[in-house]
Amino acid sequence: MITIDGSAGEGGGQILRTALALATVTGKPFRIEKIRAGRPKPGLLRQHLTAVRAAAKISGATITGAELGSGTVTFSPGRITTGDFHFAVGTAGSATLVLQTVLPALMTANAPSKLMLEGGTHNPAAPPFDFLTKSFLPLINRMGPKVSAVLECPGFYPAGGGRFTVSIDPLPRVLPIEMIERGAIPSIRAHILIANLPRSIAEREVKVLSRLLAIPEDSLTVEVIRSAEGPGNVAMVEIETEDHAEVFTGFGEIAVRAEAVATKVAQEARAYITSGVPIGKYLTDQLLIPMALSGSGTFRTGPLSLHATTNLEVIRQFLEVDIKLGEGPKCVWTIRFG
Ligand code: AMP
Repeated sequence: MITIDGSAGEGGGQILRTALALATVTGKPFRIEKIRAGRPKPGLLRQHLTAVRAAAKISGATITGAELGSGTVTFSPGRITTGDFHFAVGTAGSATLVLQTVLPALMTANAPSKLMLEGGTHNPAAPPFDFLTKSFLPLINRMGPKVSAVLECPGFYPAGGGRFTVSIDPLPRVLPIEMIERGAIPSIRAHILIANLPRSIAEREVKVLSRLLAIPEDSLTVEVIRSAEGPGNVAMVEIETEDHAEVFTGFGEIAVRAEAVATKVAQEARAYITSGVPIGKYLTDQLLIPMALSGSGTFRTGPLSLHATTNLEVIRQFLEVDIKLGEGPKCVWTIRFG
């Protein structure tokens, strides 16, 4: 049984999710200890528990320690089952992170699946739904599986209540991709979501994004969400390169001015633009699993986050794939598989 230290490196929920994802793909059992030990609320939160149960459901796994607050879990997977699944976090916890857990096994299975996921769809510290559909899933589709997602209702922290569906047409051996050069940036757009809050907040964010990123007026859109259960404000900047898209996101918070939310996301987008590398920091850690499953391929990115290096360590515990990291000038890193 593989033993994983949940407090190593970045020490967050991603260690658990990567272990679950790769255990279901490979059929290898694991035991994880000290789950999220350094976090303010250590152990399994509702979102992590949903991920454990979802992974167990699709793989017929035997599990121990699957309780809220638990610091140790053992997971012994069986055979993958495909079909229709419904996973509900039950709080505003991120439903996109539950997808991150089950997608590797379902997209490399032998038959299609359809998922309904409920919880948060636009959460801080998680991939927002728009990042999935515009940035991450197009690259997964380029690797062979056909995966699409439809947002039925956005869910924001703390009210939750979001829902989206995912359709997965798998490919058992995903194809490698090469992403070395970024090329030009033909367009930058911004899309602001505002739910149960004054529209003026979104308009102030539009003004800042237009000024800081020189986004033309017809590429700045505001969407007033009437169906959300609680308040929410999300400012998303979509950078289309010649090869793919990156999405950077700012989240409105109580006591944080709209101008500050927009400035922060503009700075993140600007840092990506000036870096010159194709793959941004969030895609970097999220592409590692599909790339490792393909067993080949290369991509170039900026300074490696602790998320990325920690994820690599967990991947190496499950897969016998050669992963080479090369550092070039100006903190440009090349990650080569196979
Ligand atoms: P963890 O902090 O361990 O729960 O992992 C968080 C995951 O969410 C990582 O895969 C991050 O790449 C991803 N993530 C966090 N913030 C964003 C964001 N703004 N856009 C896209 N992905 C994100």
